[in-house]
Amino acid sequence: MKSPHSQFDRRSALKALGLGSAAGALGAFGNQAHANSHESEPHPKVGGMDPVKITKVRSILTAPYGINLVIVKVETDQPGLYGLGCATFTQRAHTVVSAIDEYLDPFFKGKRVNTIEDNWQMAYQSSYWRNGPVLNNALSGVDQALWDIKGKMAGMPVYELLGGKCRFAVDAYGHASGNTPEEVLERVQWFKDKGYRNIRIQLGGYGSTHLSDNPPYKKAGFGDPDDRTMTPQIYKRGTIEIFKKARERFGDDVELLHDMHERLQPMEAIDMIRKVEEYRPFFIEDPFSPENIGWFKRLREQTNVPIAMGELFNSPHEFLIPMSERLYDYIRIHISQIGGITPAMKVARLGEWFNVRTAWHGPGDTSPVGHAANCHIDLAVWNFGVQEMGLFKDAAYEVFPGMPTMKEGFIYVNEVPGLGIDIDEKLAAKYPPVVYNYNWTQLRGIDGTPTRP
Ligand code: MG
Repeated sequence: MKSPHSQFDRRSALKALGLGSAAGALGAFGNQAHANSHESEPHPKVGGMDPVKITKVRSILTAPYGINLVIVKVETDQPGLYGLGCATFTQRAHTVVSAIDEYLDPFFKGKRVNTIEDNWQMAYQSSYWRNGPVLNNALSGVDQALWDIKGKMAGMPVYELLGGKCRFAVDAYGHASGNTPEEVLERVQWFKDKGYRNIRIQLGGYGSTHLSDNPPYKKAGFGDPDDRTMTPQIYKRGTIEIFKKARERFGDDVELLHDMHERLQPMEAIDMIRKVEEYRPFFIEDPFSPENIGWFKRLREQTNVPIAMGELFNSPHEFLIPMSERLYDYIRIHISQIGGITPAMKVARLGEWFNVRTAWHGPGDTSPVGHAANCHIDLAVWNFGVQEMGLFKDAAYEVFPGMPTMKEGFIYVNEVPGLGIDIDEKLAAKYPPVVYNYNWTQLRGIDGTPTRP
């Protein structure tokens, strides 16, 4: 058996002989057969790191604040060394659990923890058919956990591995929603009082559906009693009204954001965005669905309002063409949906080339682990824009010690090696998964036509 230290021995021997790099050059361009006889031996250390191996990949399903969260724990052959990642696709949580426990655990067992890119690529293609939300989320859980492990091994927070801080903290936006314009404005005031500079305004959540009572299809007995109804003109009028009233009350000293959730037909969407332009939105999100990407060019010709897009994209590749054509200004990525830190960093860096900034998805169904991953990227990429941040109940902070914290509208990560977040598994087990509520996605027009959320 060959010595595992043969490369080191060779270098030391050359140095001792004073041959160093000259001998190396001879090896490369001179006597190949001679050089290969010394340099083709396998070495247990790849890239200078100890060959720590994955021993287990397992899912943890918990709902500490009523939303099913899927967390991946990657265990290693080093005592006490493990990593955590977010794999939360809450609408199909159990399916992701199956992908993790039945496919990724056997796939990753015995693989090295340090070859993150190689691991990602091999797992990504391992199903042959790829780019779906279930498999991307499962893979994200492992990917984030491997970054967490690498940070712990290096003794550095993950943002250091990604290039180091470009900013002292992460500027966030909060969600101000209410069933009347007055309620929305009171909520904006609440966030302003907390120190937020960026606030998203929504009348009745998405699409003002609470204002569309007793539609004709329900009177006719069509659909299900719990279905919700979207009336485009009610939503459009209400949204213009809250922008107008928010600017009248708060002046120009606050950034106002809005998520259209792709709920209007293209020309109606363009018309609404043109009408809120005078109130200077920070961005308008998802004016069209990914299926309607062709309408963005028409929108750009009509208005200068910044646009955010991408939350519903499955593949990192979907960002490229509309980005290169300057069709949007902010990259929306649900970090687990796209496959983890590895692909999210690639899209973020791509954005730098086109002067497009990041605005990662960060509601309650991004787990606290996912929020930590978001923030480590936010700290490190130059073209950071803003970070969406939900408000979390105490249970989230108890189940996930070290979760990022808020102060005056800025998010701070836990300054320890890795992602800085842990999970109390005993406590997590006290919050078993809940039955998924389909109501959120069950949306119809007034004649009962299914409408996308
Ligand atoms: Mg959105």
